[in-house]
Amino acid sequence: MEKSAQMFIAGEWCDGQNGSAEVVDPATGETVGAVALAGTSDLNLALDAADAAFKVWSLTSAFERSGLLRKAAGLLRERAEEIGRLMVREQGKPLAEAKGEVIGSADHIDWAAEEGRRMYGRVIPARAPNVQQIAYRLPLGVVAGFSPWNFPISQAVRKIAGALGVGCTIIIKCPEETPYSCAELVRCFEDAGIPRGVVNLVYGVPKEVSEYLIPADPVRMVTFTGSIPVGKTLGEIAARYVKRCTLELGGHSPFVVAEDADVDAAVQLAATLKFRNAGQVCAAPSRFYIHDTHYERFLDGFVAASKELKVGSGFEVGVQMGPLANARRLDAMEVFVADAVDRGAKIATGGRRIGNKGNFFEPTVLTDIPEDASLMVDEPFGPIAPVLPFSSLESAIEKANALPYALAAFAFGTSQKTVDQLSKGLEAGMVSINHFGIASPETPFGGMKESGYGSEGGVEGMDAFVTTKFISTLV
Ligand code: NAD
Repeated sequence: MEKSAQMFIAGEWCDGQNGSAEVVDPATGETVGAVALAGTSDLNLALDAADAAFKVWSLTSAFERSGLLRKAAGLLRERAEEIGRLMVREQGKPLAEAKGEVIGSADHIDWAAEEGRRMYGRVIPARAPNVQQIAYRLPLGVVAGFSPWNFPISQAVRKIAGALGVGCTIIIKCPEETPYSCAELVRCFEDAGIPRGVVNLVYGVPKEVSEYLIPADPVRMVTFTGSIPVGKTLGEIAARYVKRCTLELGGHSPFVVAEDADVDAAVQLAATLKFRNAGQVCAAPSRFYIHDTHYERFLDGFVAASKELKVGSGFEVGVQMGPLANARRLDAMEVFVADAVDRGAKIATGGRRIGNKGNFFEPTVLTDIPEDASLMVDEPFGPIAPVLPFSSLESAIEKANALPYALAAFAFGTSQKTVDQLSKGLEAGMVSINHFGIASPETPFGGMKESGYGSEGGVEGMDAFVTTKFISTLV
């Protein structure tokens, strides 16, 4: 597959003013093809198109917008196999995960399509009988979206569908590492009949594109998913130009197993969540705190489950974990392990790169790790799990809350007292107890502290794209 991913600007597929970059298959290291890179003339075209389209799309009835979005969702479902295959080639995850992501993303579009029809304003009782007061909720305008490579479709879809659902238009910069599946997502909106200029897709040098788009006049809202340092920079630019901003950044999620927990259920979920998408999930559990009484049993079960995982090309039947999505992550894993071992950590399983072709890394479990190891402080964003014992739930919660990030937290416990202590005590934008229960279209997804602000998903995710206009009339 030698192909070129084009941009989609003002309803046309086009190459970029700044040439192209190479796209690499993370399982083989081979070149898959190229991706177009935008220059300022491309971005200006996208800004003009999104601005012009906003004037029409924002006045299109919510009912009509909803119908077009639902059509796009249907096309995405129909094309799940084909798009999933593109994603495996450029991102590496197992095909079943890729297809699941595409199908789940169609649900996000359906949610935004329906919720967009419920952007109710309100009538506010006035102080005088001849005054009418109405608060309207209106689409903000042109949105600049920046989506990452770990979930090429589902991260982009939350931004596109949310914006379109309420009547905004969007310029989305999708990840240069995984452009092909993103392009096919946008093609679903095109084929559904979404008018030209409503969705514009660009790729480019990320810093150049964000620094150009965010200050640009028609852009009224910025939505970014990615790392904390980049999020802070984009948030600063947005603040300087008073642009609304949603930031979905990294985390370092604790996974707490209390004394009265169902340990076997905890082991099973830990292995599934930790190694999904090779650990490259912002809400993946990354610090495992296990009550003393269960520590050995949890560790044995978790290590056994990690060893059993089939690692390989995402196209291979039965593979449960693919390669890391890019060579940067592979290097980062090696540095995390070396630093931890230097500080006294023990490797219970894994710890090394697999082979010398592609970005494969062993599912890794570490013990005896000091709290100041970089793995305990910096988001691993990869398949490494530190496991630590604790003796009191209060101290585990304190450690769980000790970092400046607070995206997700997972916990196991059975008594009402334990569940109450965990759900109230764990500081995170999303707390999931005794199961994995986050990230559905109808629930808010977002972090506290340095993990970002605002939500994607749920009514909160739709609110991010609207502004309030209050009208008081003397009748
Ligand atoms: P990075 O910080 O360079 O980039 C992260 C993402 O932001 C990428 O998608 C990149 O294209 C984009 N980006 C980078 N600089 C940008 C800029 N100036 N303007 C706009 N977009 C920009 O790191 P990376 O090596 O690509 O990824 C590693 C780290 O990123 C991980 O450690 C993880 O914390 C974070 N990450 C988080 C998520 C998430 O879902 N929250 C997704 C991907 C990456």
